[in-house]
Amino acid sequence: MSSSSPSRGGISLDIKPMNKILEINKESKFVRVEPGVTFEGLANELEKQVLALGMYQSSAKSAVIGGWIACGGRGGIGTPFYGGLKDHILSLSVIGGDGVVKVLEGDDIDIFLHSYGILGVIFEIKLKVHEIVREYKSFSYGFRTIDGLCNAMVDITSLETRPIYLKIADDELQKYSNPLEIGKYVLSVTYVDVPSEIPLEDLKSITGKHDGVYISDEFSKKEWELRYDAEFNPKEHTETLMFQEFWMPVEKVSEMLLKYESYRRSHGIPALWFGMLGSHNEMRLELMVMIDAAQYLKFISSKGILHKMMKKAIKLGGGPYTIGLQNSIYMSRAYPARLTEMQEAKEKWDPSGIMNPDRVTSCLTSFRRIDVLFWLASAFRRLSKYVGE
Ligand SMILES: Cc1cc2nc3c(=O)[nH]c(=O)nc-3n(C[C@H](O)[C@H](O)[C@H](O)COP(=O)(O)OP(=O)(O)OC[C@H]3O[C@@H](n4cnc5c(N)ncnc54)[C@H](O)[C@@H]3O)c2cc1C
Repeated sequence: MSSSSPSRGGISLDIKPMNKILEINKESKFVRVEPGVTFEGLANELEKQVLALGMYQSSAKSAVIGGWIACGGRGGIGTPFYGGLKDHILSLSVIGGDGVVKVLEGDDIDIFLHSYGILGVIFEIKLKVHEIVREYKSFSYGFRTIDGLCNAMVDITSLETRPIYLKIADDELQKYSNPLEIGKYVLSVTYVDVPSEIPLEDLKSITGKHDGVYISDEFSKKEWELRYDAEFNPKEHTETLMFQEFWMPVEKVSEMLLKYESYRRSHGIPALWFGMLGSHNEMRLELMVMIDAAQYLKFISSKGILHKMMKKAIKLGGGPYTIGLQNSIYMSRAYPARLTEMQEAKEKWDPSGIMNPDRVTSCLTSFRRIDVLFWLASAFRRLSKYVGE
């Protein structure tokens, strides 16, 4: 349970002991599980029956099924090919904040996706499973420019054959897992290895058109093997890995990255970034800063840059990827319709407001206050250049 913040006291509910796999039905291709089952644990059990979930997040080694559903389950490995978790849920058994138990199916499930525990607790999940796919083929290309990288990505995502995994990153992030051999930016794409379906010729012509260079078979294979670790590795080399995650249409990713690169240069921040394709050609884009929290001016002003990036993302039609205590301030700007829907649902499911208050539908501070705070921090940081930290 990583996101528990009982900011006003209260009870933290640890879901992890609810970790039973209740049924694996090979014939009808479904599985029934409790919410505390980890993706890795379930994958291992399914594998024994030559089955798989198809999609999972890069935090799959420790993250649990209930947690990912409550976070939306849209942007993981496998989602471009199989769809998001929503497309796999056959039913959800939930207990609302009002104590009423319900079994949700079809569109009724939607309200519990992105609900972040504010409506009630998911206590049983029935999911579709697939025949396991054992063979994958990966291709990695190096690019010199962000435009080249992002234009190639947009073209690849418009091909009929969907990848199972598509990742982009800069050389700073690569340094900690699979250092780049060619170019400054990498695009790695993995397909299910059914030879007639891999669009090899299209990949060649698209990447060639945008000045991408194929790196090597060995590098490409390693990229797929490191799919769980690429995001985590920089953490071992810094006091704090500050990051903000965005949900962006793929066509808008280049504008975000160009802006972030310009902040990297103008503010000298130790920035790095990573993106992973989700379902519906949207990308989970992660902008990071390697920083020491003890240098609080640098720390706060770097957070201010991520705040500016969020304002840009919202303007471009994107928004925060997950909504926690911190990102709830962006709900009204990024997702106003969803906010209204969630406020109504909160009234209905949790009339006493006992489930994860101060998240999603309400928050402890306002956007304006945070905006001013970050503006001041960045002004002080500029001043500190002259007077010292
Ligand atoms: C390094 C890293 C990599 C990540 N990679 C991806 C990725 O590839 N794709 C992606 O989509 N996301 C990714 N994420 C974010 C992702 O959403 C979480 O990793 C994960 O899915 C949340 O699961 P958890 O077990 O950590 O849940 P927690 O953090 O414990 O909970 C998440 C939220 O769900 C609520 N919740 C938990 N269980 C229940 C339940 N049973 N009923 C109701 N509410 C519940 C909690 O209250 C909380 O609000 C990543 C995060 C990190 C830190």
